[in-house]
Amino acid sequence: MDIDSTKDDLTGGLFKILFEKSPGSVLVKADAPLFTIVAVSDDYLMVTSAKREDVIRKSFFDAFPEDKDNPADEYTARKVFTKVIQTGEKIDVAVYRYDILNSLTHQPEERYWSCSNIPIPGGGKKVEYILNTVVDISGEVKAKEVAIESENRLLLAAEATGLAIWDLSIPQTDFNFSPQLMAIFGHAPDSSISLSSIRNQVHPDDMQNIIIKSYHEALVTGNYAYEARIFWPDESLHWIRVKGVVLYNDKQEPYRMLGTIVDVTENKRDEIRKNDFIAMASHELKTPLTSLKAYIQLLETKLSGASDPFIKTALSKSINQVNKMIALVHSFLDLSRLEPGKLQLKRSVFDINKLIEECINDSRMISGTHTLAFSPIGVCNVNADREKIGEVVSNFISNAIKYSPKGSTVTIKAEVADHNCVEVSVTDEGIGIKPKDHEKIFQRFYRVDDNDKNHISGFGIGLYLSNEIIQRHKGKIWVKSTAGKGSSFFFSLPLV
Ligand code: ADP
Repeated sequence: MDIDSTKDDLTGGLFKILFEKSPGSVLVKADAPLFTIVAVSDDYLMVTSAKREDVIRKSFFDAFPEDKDNPADEYTARKVFTKVIQTGEKIDVAVYRYDILNSLTHQPEERYWSCSNIPIPGGGKKVEYILNTVVDISGEVKAKEVAIESENRLLLAAEATGLAIWDLSIPQTDFNFSPQLMAIFGHAPDSSISLSSIRNQVHPDDMQNIIIKSYHEALVTGNYAYEARIFWPDESLHWIRVKGVVLYNDKQEPYRMLGTIVDVTENKRDEIRKNDFIAMASHELKTPLTSLKAYIQLLETKLSGASDPFIKTALSKSINQVNKMIALVHSFLDLSRLEPGKLQLKRSVFDINKLIEECINDSRMISGTHTLAFSPIGVCNVNADREKIGEVVSNFISNAIKYSPKGSTVTIKAEVADHNCVEVSVTDEGIGIKPKDHEKIFQRFYRVDDNDKNHISGFGIGLYLSNEIIQRHKGKIWVKSTAGKGSSFFFSLPLV
């Protein structure tokens, strides 16, 4: 079709009406270098703030001057039109910038466009016209820029605090991370390292016991959190802390995990130094305490016939205090041994009732202020570390005594429960614990902040150690308590 010869149709009639109502279109003649505008739609005029009489029958580049600031841009209208004529092929340009003069302020406005350039042949194969359709996508481009800018700001803030951000697809095919992650693993920030080589840097014990376990737990709970050891390329040992959340699709299937990672080596080194100090100090205290106890016991024997009753009471009170100190020093030593692999269990098969009786006898020796009630049922054999389980029982009993009034009863029970377990409980009639503290009392150094018991001394490590000991035996530990009425502390262990 020779469009020019159907001039009437272009300047009037149905074609004109249809074209002028079409979205963002302009028809230009392939008369390079002019590219005369033959028809233009209302929408095109509106988005470009132009008037029909100013553009029609004018060169496209008089109506819409070329962007001289951007001569290298391969998407300038002139280059694209020329290419359409040369190739006879349609050319789409996804995004390009062409600023428009604001009709009110007469200031240039930053605008982004997406366009299509369709060749329209004349009589032969030669391109006679080019149909240029445009869509103003400035809104989308700006929104994307804002999103990128806020993402960059977030990244900067994270990196300033040493945090790296990562996300991982599930199954694990895609792993993205911010450059800080490379520094955390001891590489140059611009290195490209695969997920599998990063994994190879993890301490093999922690990969097995911590990371894989936490990953599978996270798929169920939605929260990913662990601390693990890694080796840098220079073979130095570092600690990382990872936290993340799992995203689920409509079918509640996990499909992605995202989170942060930070180097906590300095904190860990401090903790190790602190633990080493506690271990050393407790160890040094053990020897003089043991000889102090031996001397008092010798004195007790030597003065057993003394007529002054004060000597007897003073010596037995001294022994009790020394025993308390020895127990405390033991728990400090245990505390420092809780680092991975340091607290070794020495398992043996024993009757838990016998152990409870021994602990009750020791407690009666230390404090005779309470009634300790225990009626053992038949033999309950467990395969566990006798000394450590004894520490848990003694700790439950000494807490029951500590946090209940003198003269009250502490009831100790050992019962066979479901799943072939023995369940040991220590119940007191004391001050009790509010529900908000039930979980927290098992944390290290946690003591209930309560004015009533400010005079009761303690370090908040007894229950923490008890929890660690029971966890390492794959048992359970818990509390039931009503504030003002009393508490029951429980642990359960598998029976042999
Ligand atoms: P400590 O007794 O040395 O403070 P624990 O770890 O043994 O440390 O106990 C932690 C906290 O739990 C205690 O400070 C106390 O507030 C609370 N608690 C433990 N046992 C009892 C109990 N039988 N009755 C009331 N509160 C208790």
